[in-house]
Amino acid sequence: MKFETENLSIVELDDVASYDFEIKAKCSNCQTETPKSLHIVGVETQENPNGRGETNCVWKCSGCGRQHSIDVITKVYQPISCSVEKYQPLVGFDCRGCEPSQWIPHELAAITTSDARFEVALQKGEWYDYDEDSESSVGISKLEHRFSKK
Ligand SMILES: [Zn+2]
Repeated sequence: MKFETENLSIVELDDVASYDFEIKAKCSNCQTETPKSLHIVGVETQENPNGRGETNCVWKCSGCGRQHSIDVITKVYQPISCSVEKYQPLVGFDCRGCEPSQWIPHELAAITTSDARFEVALQKGEWYDYDEDSESSVGISKLEHRFSKK
């Protein structure tokens, strides 16, 4: 993901294992996209119908009827440094039979340049607040993301 920030040093997730990733995905077989968002949470698992133990999320394609699974790879998670103005990886997903097409982020956390911590509630990819300690405005804007294959 990438974004523009004001007086922030780090943007991160509160707890990647319990974070609710709201994601849309596309079937690799017939290209049908999930009509509704999927919710993928690292600590929530269910039985994988494709017989590979447990998985975070199962969805059935409305186009071809196949069942796909998505797991969040929490161990590759890393906070985003605000001093870098290019795409940085946040987290990974292990997708079987599908690929993610969209992430709808809501909640993030931010550390300001004066080390104050803010809970971020994004609205349309933007967030603005005021840091009393440093008497400066803080914010996130122009949030963009993409998925790349590993
Ligand atoms: Zn399909």
